[in-house]
Amino acid sequence: LQAPSPAGLIWQTVRNEQAKTPEARAEILADPGFGQHFTDHMVDVCWSEKGGWHRPRVTPYGPISLDPAAAVLHYGQEIFEGMKAYRHAEGSIRTFRPYENAARMQRSAKRLALPELPSEIFIESLKKLVEVDGDWVPDAAETSLYLRPFMFAKEAFLGVRPSKKVAYYVIASPAGAYFSGGVAPVNIWLSTQYARAGKGGTGAAKTGGNYASSLLPQAEAYEHGCQQVAFLDAEGNLEELGGMNVVLVKRDGTLVTPESDSILEGITRDSILQLAADRGHTVERRAVHIDEWREGVASGEIVGAFACGTAAVVVPIGRLLADGFEIEHSDSEASALALSLREELTGIQYGRVEDRHGWMLRL
Ligand code: PMP
Repeated sequence: LQAPSPAGLIWQTVRNEQAKTPEARAEILADPGFGQHFTDHMVDVCWSEKGGWHRPRVTPYGPISLDPAAAVLHYGQEIFEGMKAYRHAEGSIRTFRPYENAARMQRSAKRLALPELPSEIFIESLKKLVEVDGDWVPDAAETSLYLRPFMFAKEAFLGVRPSKKVAYYVIASPAGAYFSGGVAPVNIWLSTQYARAGKGGTGAAKTGGNYASSLLPQAEAYEHGCQQVAFLDAEGNLEELGGMNVVLVKRDGTLVTPESDSILEGITRDSILQLAADRGHTVERRAVHIDEWREGVASGEIVGAFACGTAAVVVPIGRLLADGFEIEHSDSEASALALSLREELTGIQYGRVEDRHGWMLRL
C-alpha cells in the first residue's frame, strides 16, 4: 500500500510502455515549436460531488474517452492554466510562481461553477508529471516545457446545471524559443466590432469560451497584418489582447496598465510590474481609455507600450492599428525598458538572476 502524498492523495503511476526513445525525444527537443508535441504521460484526477477529489493518476499520454453527452461538449464548462517548467544550468527543473496559477485556476473554477482544486494538489500534479517526464524539459536558451493543467465537466447529462462529475488533467508540451531572431515588436489590431468580455461575464476566468470568441477577431487581426488583437470594454477602455496583457510606458517612466474585472490577471504582468517598481518606476493600475493611449502618443506623454504573457514573456508593441486611426511607437528607450525587464524576468526564470522574491519552485 502506498502512503498518502502531502496533499492526502494516493497516487498511482502507469508507465507508458510506448514512450518515445531518447533519440526520438532528442529530435523533437531540437526543434519543438509550440504546442505540437506532447510528453509520454499525463495527470488525470477525478472529482465527483459525492467523493470529492479522488483517483489521482499519472498515465500514458493518449486520447480521453468521453460520453457524447458530457456537459463540456455542450455548455463549455471548462477552465485551464498555462505555465512553464525551466531547466536550470545545474540540471534542476523549476517553475515560476505556480501558487499564482493555482489560485487563478480556483478563481476560474468558482466563476465556471467547477470545484476548486486545492493548491497542494495542483502543485503535486505538476511534480508528479515532471517526475516521470522530466527528460522532456529542454535546455537550450529560452526553451521550456509548457504545462497545461485543465478541468472540464464530464457528467453525461443534458440539463443545464453544474456537472456533478469533473476531470482534471495536466499535459505537457516542449516549447522552443518564442523569438528565434531576437525579440521583434508586434503590431496589434484594435477590434471595435467584437468584444472579448462584458461586465459580470467570464473575462477574468481562463475558460475556453473566451478563446473561442477571440478567434474571429484574431483572424481579422491577421488580415490587417497584425499578430494580436486588442479588445476594449463597452466604454472604450482598453482591456487586453487575445492572449496577453498590455502595459503603456509614459515619458517619465511610469507604467500604466488596465485594471478591470473582465480581463485575465496575468502572472507575467504582475511580475514585470513588480520588477519595474523595484527599480523605482511608478506603476498605475487603473482604467485606461483608448483615447488616453491615442492622445498620449500624439502629445508625447506616452512613449511606448508592451504586451506580456507566459508564452512570449514581454514584447514591445510597434503599432496599434484600428479602423480609422493608427498609433506608432518609435521611442527606443521605451522599447529598451521593455526588453531589459524581459531580460531580468527570464534571468530569474532560468536561474541566471537571483530570485529575490522567491518566485521559483523546484519541481
Ligand atoms: N490575458 C489572456 C487572455 C491570456 O490568455 C494570457 C495568457 N495566460 C494572459 C493575459 C497573460 O497571463 P500570464 O502572464 O499569466 O500568462
